[in-house]
Amino acid sequence: MLAAQFLDILWPNLLLLGVEEVRIVPGLTAVNPLDFVSYPISHSLAMAVVWAVLFGLVYWVVRRYRAGAVVAALCVVSHWFLDFIVHVPDLPLVPGGSVKVGLGLWESLPATLVAELAVFAAGIVVYERTTVAADRIGRYGLWGLVLFLAAIYLGSVFGPPPPDAATIAWADQGQWLVVLLAYWVDRHRRPAAAVPLANRAASL
Ligand SMILES: [Zn+2]
Repeated sequence: MLAAQFLDILWPNLLLLGVEEVRIVPGLTAVNPLDFVSYPISHSLAMAVVWAVLFGLVYWVVRRYRAGAVVAALCVVSHWFLDFIVHVPDLPLVPGGSVKVGLGLWESLPATLVAELAVFAAGIVVYERTTVAADRIGRYGLWGLVLFLAAIYLGSVFGPPPPDAATIAWADQGQWLVVLLAYWVDRHRRPAAAVPLANRAASL
């Protein structure tokens, strides 16, 4: 969760520091009223790769788990490519560059809902199938987290636009709550593959 959201966790801090800039333009796209005027440090492709490498390195230093570090790094950079699908052309390739890209799925509310909810559902299915609850927190906590994320998502799509950039920046610090909740739930779940894989190995 931290890796996949990392660019959006950096972003509000860069807004508060005045390094990056956003404006609220209701109706800018069918889904999102934010005009991302400038966000080269958090959301240029080049910096996304840099953040991904740094994130993977820190993960590797802390955990010494190479596959985990690679997956974490890929999650960081995957954020940029998923943003690329939905944003209008406001994502820079390099900081200071004039080329900005984005396929603009947010121009269509139905297409956005189908695509984003499909990705959300796929993530839930993969996680639910590859882990098993170790206890009640692992079981009900997961569904609590799913409902919480769904409520935040629907609120952001159908709710009123935020009043100003500072409100966005402070409200976005709430992403830490999602990271901590996910960490807590995950501590109460176990890999599901361990038993079936062992059985399969034994039968071979
Ligand atoms: Zn983003």
